[in-house]
Amino acid sequence: MDGQLNNNSEVMCCFCGNYLPLKDALVLSIYPNIESKESQQLFSHKNHFVEKIFKSIPLHPDFFEDEDV
Ligand SMILES: [Zn+2]
Repeated sequence: MDGQLNNNSEVMCCFCGNYLPLKDALVLSIYPNIESKESQQLFSHKNHFVEKIFKSIPLHPDFFEDEDV
């Protein structure tokens, strides 16, 4: 987080490139490898993340909370 985001901020979905409100975005904190000390945050629409994950991987139910979007 760069410290400049607030709940009214818009962020870019890393899968489709469109903007969405931060409050609606899924937050991905990713590490380049298991020993990395620093993570990078990416944002996405929840449904665009779910679509990319292989179907047999179980996901937290909250990832499906706004499936209709
Ligand atoms: Zn998207």
